[in-house]
Amino acid sequence: MHHFSENDNLIAGITPFTTIDYPGELAAVLFVRGCPLRCRYCHNPSLLGTEGEHMSDNSVFEFLEQHKGKLSGIVLSGGDPLLAARRQLPGINELIAHAHAMGYKVKFDTNGVCYTEYFSEEPYNRGKQLIASMDYIGLDIKAPVDKYTLFQGSPQCFKNVQAFIEDVLESGVPIEVRTTVHKSLLDERDLVRIKEEIIDPYGLGDRWWLQQFHEGELYDNSINKEPTYSDIELTRIAGELGCRIRGVKEE
Ligand code: SF4
Repeated sequence: MHHFSENDNLIAGITPFTTIDYPGELAAVLFVRGCPLRCRYCHNPSLLGTEGEHMSDNSVFEFLEQHKGKLSGIVLSGGDPLLAARRQLPGINELIAHAHAMGYKVKFDTNGVCYTEYFSEEPYNRGKQLIASMDYIGLDIKAPVDKYTLFQGSPQCFKNVQAFIEDVLESGVPIEVRTTVHKSLLDERDLVRIKEEIIDPYGLGDRWWLQQFHEGELYDNSINKEPTYSDIELTRIAGELGCRIRGVKEE
């Protein structure tokens, strides 16, 4: 029997195969429960609370065993794996170590808002050690600094995101940043502000992606019906901002 966590509740579920979530890798996505934000467009509303069904650690381990050599990476997603790491850091560390020992690369998808003092306490800097154990990081930038409250983040939570970015850049681990765009949450001026306040100061321009909003079973389904940017409009905006774009239909 293998245990990553004390009470077998680290991973809620696995998508066994994806070619789009980890650039250049064939990967599985491992979902944790719990997220500090509540984005109206969230496609995984059942994962936002920490309570609910989980896989046994043993079955997660068996999945990794069965797919080693066939898949080249795993993506820790959610929910928010940084929140999971705050609750269960030894388990996350052990899962990453097991995955590396089996030859997997490890990507971490997070919004960064949980990167608090807990992670940066010296002399044992848990955050830098955790970051150094990753092979690739996907960071969601939700909004300009003062609009995280629209995503139910605290007014101060962006300083945690900044600390996370600074530690990732210092580590040298590759990072991409993503902003999902819906007109009800972000207008064009907000996108310019994200560029001016966050992207450019950290030199992240060539690693910034705009992601088109997609309808679905969401945290707040009313946003499905609210007007937003067409693919053509979003492509124009991305061109003006000089960033990349995902989730639009190719012409
Ligand atoms: S989309 Fe928002 S609410 Fe959903 S998991 Fe990501 S950060 Fe959390």
